[in-house]
Amino acid sequence: MVEEKFIKEVTSVLGEKGILLGSEVTERKAGIWIEEPIKSKVILRPRNTEELSKILIVCNKFKQPIVPHGGLTGLVESAITNEEEVIISSERMINIEEVDVTGRTLTAQAGVKLQTIQEEAESKGMFFPLDLGARGSCTIGGNASTNAGGNRVIRYGMTRELILGLEAVLADGKIISSMNKMLKNNAGYDLKQLFIGSEGTLGIISKVVLRLQEKPLSQNTALLAAESFQQVSELLKHIDSMLGGNLSAFEVMWRDFYLLVTSPPAINKPPIDQKYPYYILVEYSGSDQAKDSEHFNLILEKALEKNLITDAVIAKSESDRRKLWAIRDDVEQQYQYGPIKIFDVSLPINCMEGYIKDVRKKMSEHWKDFHCTVFGHLADCNLHIITAVGGNDPSSISKMEECVYEPLRSFRGSVSAEHGIGLEKKNYLGISRTDEELALMKSLKNNLDPNNILNPGKIFG
Ligand code: ZN
Repeated sequence: MVEEKFIKEVTSVLGEKGILLGSEVTERKAGIWIEEPIKSKVILRPRNTEELSKILIVCNKFKQPIVPHGGLTGLVESAITNEEEVIISSERMINIEEVDVTGRTLTAQAGVKLQTIQEEAESKGMFFPLDLGARGSCTIGGNASTNAGGNRVIRYGMTRELILGLEAVLADGKIISSMNKMLKNNAGYDLKQLFIGSEGTLGIISKVVLRLQEKPLSQNTALLAAESFQQVSELLKHIDSMLGGNLSAFEVMWRDFYLLVTSPPAINKPPIDQKYPYYILVEYSGSDQAKDSEHFNLILEKALEKNLITDAVIAKSESDRRKLWAIRDDVEQQYQYGPIKIFDVSLPINCMEGYIKDVRKKMSEHWKDFHCTVFGHLADCNLHIITAVGGNDPSSISKMEECVYEPLRSFRGSVSAEHGIGLEKKNYLGISRTDEELALMKSLKNNLDPNNILNPGKIFG
């Protein structure tokens, strides 16, 4: 039961506008991709770090469990609440506080949307490389707390690599201001890392200092087809080495995925015949369009000569480029198969071919008719697997999970490359982490949040 005294105290901090109650809460959906309403009675909406700190002091005093909310675009039930939990939303923390073009940083409150940050950087002639399909809805605080990945990780790293500093509020309201703006800073522990990727279980991120990059001056994109996985992995080495380590994207689609997203009712047409086992979307961002295009073409010609690819289509314009990316991004087509389950595993590239065979074999032992489509950020060791077996009852879900996660155990692959753990994967965390690692995680949690009020039950517990 959320106590009345609690409501009174938080209202005195936030004012009437800073708190939503009853139907104002339940008329909202629990997530962008979730149809059910939010299960909670209260949403607290601080405007800044100080208000956030004050309300956390109250939450901690009342031992009131809270769940932080950003754009609600997560995929692992990290922002799901029960009726006894109170939501702290970053929806009023939406200021970009500074863009420092010389220092190449952007400082923003946690609730600023990723797309707004990209556009702000762009308007100053700079570039913020983090990019994902949910850019228009997800918030930078959510990106930070889940260490979001996306399509440019091979070149720029995950969110963790794009954050120079941050400010977070602990369960007891203490403000940890690590608003570092320098690329180098070895003055003791790098405390910001505690809060990046910990899904709001160790503290709530209120502000970030982001590292901006210079804007790429050329884009070179191609869709390639290969006959074998061996060719795909050799192609990665071939292209990246000829680009001197400057490859920006290397996205691979297995045939099932390509077929689905380039056949009606999907709106995209196949730019390359649908008969090949693998399709690779490659991108290189450089500094001189004419020279880079020439070099890019040469690299692809060499790949053909070395028999690493069988077919290729090169984007001749920005509209061509968008069309190629639209194929890769049309994940929605999977819903044609009925209820689906989306996985994001990571594993060494040289284990991938055997692993996918194993997963399919295991699935065929349970179901006669099933779908298992595969695509992903191969160069980041990250594959997305989408499974559909005609139902999503708890037993089908756990069988699908077993089929996908168990084969990872032998080479310590990860049950989450980029989506996180939340509630969805906590039973499988032991596949990717040792007992000692899990014990250290739990001891950090107990130490920083002894009353277990911050996103309780997520990740483990
Ligand atoms: Zn992804």
